[in-house]
Amino acid sequence: MKYVRVKFNGQPTWGELSHESVYLLDQAPYEGGQKTGKVLALKDCEVLAPCQPSKIVAVGKNYHDHIKEFDAQIPERPILFIKPSTAIQDPGKPIILPPQTLCSRVDYEGELALVIAKEASHVSAADAAQYILGYTILNDVTARDLQKLDGQWTRAKGFDTFAPVGPVLTDEVDPADLMITTTLNGHVRQQESTAQLIWTIPELLAFITQAMTLLPGDVVTTGTPAGVGPMLATDIVAVTIDGIGTLQNPVMASPYSLD
Ligand code: ZN
Repeated sequence: MKYVRVKFNGQPTWGELSHESVYLLDQAPYEGGQKTGKVLALKDCEVLAPCQPSKIVAVGKNYHDHIKEFDAQIPERPILFIKPSTAIQDPGKPIILPPQTLCSRVDYEGELALVIAKEASHVSAADAAQYILGYTILNDVTARDLQKLDGQWTRAKGFDTFAPVGPVLTDEVDPADLMITTTLNGHVRQQESTAQLIWTIPELLAFITQAMTLLPGDVVTTGTPAGVGPMLATDIVAVTIDGIGTLQNPVMASPYSLD
């Protein structure tokens, strides 16, 4: 099944996607959404981020080659952090840079993400798959200089618009071997298969749910491969994952200034 979230009569509305048609649902799929009978052509739809999570749980340093580019050690266990739900941005909408006086380097991080189907607490790796509604793309945008300056990552990864997600949510892919390609202005910057993940998705869900309950609709994002780098205003960043699609966003200068 493939799901999208689109604007219908000005309201965010879930839909099932089949052959470029969107079959609208009365609720989110993880709330038991049923088809309303209304069908839209995908090309006529404004596509929104396919999630409304209570939280985004993210994983740092989960690809060997990304750890090498920062000269870091392989962690003994997954490093978790939370991105606020207010950071979510829709496909095609701008990533807004903080004022330059606040931070001077903002990086893209193309990642495979998943959306939780049902409440998950103390889930075993063997059972993890049944808690997953589907897979999507997340760009874990990071203010790299603030990440170093603060010593922890909440502010650096938590700005509004720093979590573009989408365009599609699908369970029709094998998450164990998906190619992630990130381009900046059309030039390839990251290209790696999820087969290179240090901790697999079942292992991550077991580890996360030992600590916290994942709620239906929550997002887990699995870490980024090597090749991260800065984005500047007017750049276009695009993350493509086979079978999911392309999440593309323009980069915009801050409309706010700090004096
Ligand atoms: Zn990341």
